[in-house]
Amino acid sequence: SLDQDFSPSELSTSKKPLILIQAGIHAGEIDGKDAGMMLLRDIALGDKKELLTKANILFIPILNVDGHERRSEFGRVNQRGPKEMGWRTNAVNLNLNRDFTKLESAGIKTIAKIIIAYDPDLYIDVHVTDGADYQYDITYGYVASGGYSPEISKWLSTAFQPEVDQALKDMGHIPGPLLFAANGNDFSAGNIAFSFSPRFSHTYGDIRHMASILIENHSLKPFKQRVLGTYVFLEQAIKSLGNHFEALQAAVKADSNQPKKDIPVKFKFRDTPADSMQFLGVASSIVKSEITGAEYVKWEGKPITQSVPSILMDVPELSVAVPQAYWIPAEWTAVISKVQQHGIKFDTLTEAQEISLDLSTVTSYSMGNQPYEGMMRVQKFELGSERRTQTMNPGSIRIPTDQALGELVVILMEPESVDSFFQWGYFNTIFTQTEYMETYIMEPLIAKMLAEDSDLKARFESKKTNDANFAKSPRAIYQWFYAQTPYYDQNWKVIPVGREW
Ligand SMILES: [Zn+2]
Repeated sequence: SLDQDFSPSELSTSKKPLILIQAGIHAGEIDGKDAGMMLLRDIALGDKKELLTKANILFIPILNVDGHERRSEFGRVNQRGPKEMGWRTNAVNLNLNRDFTKLESAGIKTIAKIIIAYDPDLYIDVHVTDGADYQYDITYGYVASGGYSPEISKWLSTAFQPEVDQALKDMGHIPGPLLFAANGNDFSAGNIAFSFSPRFSHTYGDIRHMASILIENHSLKPFKQRVLGTYVFLEQAIKSLGNHFEALQAAVKADSNQPKKDIPVKFKFRDTPADSMQFLGVASSIVKSEITGAEYVKWEGKPITQSVPSILMDVPELSVAVPQAYWIPAEWTAVISKVQQHGIKFDTLTEAQEISLDLSTVTSYSMGNQPYEGMMRVQKFELGSERRTQTMNPGSIRIPTDQALGELVVILMEPESVDSFFQWGYFNTIFTQTEYMETYIMEPLIAKMLAEDSDLKARFESKKTNDANFAKSPRAIYQWFYAQTPYYDQNWKVIPVGREW
């Protein structure tokens, strides 16, 4: 900072914008550390001091320090340099770039704190790709459509990207979009622009209404070229941020105050590709492996230009109606502390309160068959709903949706969202049924229930007639009667997130 503003309060209230540059979230992909250190050196000691008239800079040279210290010549087999490279995940094998919604790692908890305290205007996360070959050396992306900050997306595509692309081209680089081959091999079937859920850095930025960019330098380009390209990118990013700051502020304001009636929680592909792109590819051929007998792609090093479809995943597949507020009972402390760590605004009950809420119930479900990022995720499920009046104890929280982070609240709370606390497994204890009734208790009780309630008797007979599996399962029959008694656990498979309409 030219004005020597270094504290969160000074930087977040400065008239200048703040750029947050983050390197080494995947520590083997370390280009951003070297590029950022070079840029800071040239600002401090060289001829780039001028940049600080445009913006203040917050730089994290190595986010994943554990991975960075696990360095060797064998960290990134698919990548051309540097000689020694760190490791993608941290010391407990968590991938920090899947952790932005669940906040399990110290690294990403810290990023959330930094974002809340410093309130950056532009967030840049620097990576290196794996995968296909192509001519582009600096690829990067942001949520261009199908996200939660349409005005910021517009700013990125109209104000920011043209200037950064030009600066890179002027210095002999070939900038390109994020590249994912539709057929998983070459790009003949097109390039996919995925809709990533907010567990990733740039999509988390998007849902927080913070302009965010993911850089993926091309793993097959030499390290020096990648670092120099990143340097050009960062330098121009600082200039463009300064030059278009007012427009960005207006975009952030508009996106933060969007109406929040219905919010998409799932996106799907468009029926037809948006358009085609002139793809600067590299020739490839399909070769049959003598070892496995299967086919694989062999890159031949010869540049080719192809016209390929650009396949966008930006059509809302499922939107949910947004309640006034969500409620979480005091006892679910881990989830409440995560809500707090995201900087979401909420009120905490100081006295018990009785309140009428809508809750989701789980009517059927299956779990993932192996842990993902250390979590046992709920894989497939069907939901019902239930309206109930329940007493919320002191310490329970009410999260209003009418706030700048309202979209993030919905994504975390609604079970249909792939990044919900429910799907990540934070409510898995609701699946265990702890109480049961002995059959010798059930038998006389059922006889009494049938004798006293002709309607129940009719429903039982009808279920037996219409459901053969039920009719031949004593366990299912007992369970069915048990569910009609007041002894039954009313909280079993009820997701403890209440909606207040
Ligand atoms: Zn990466």
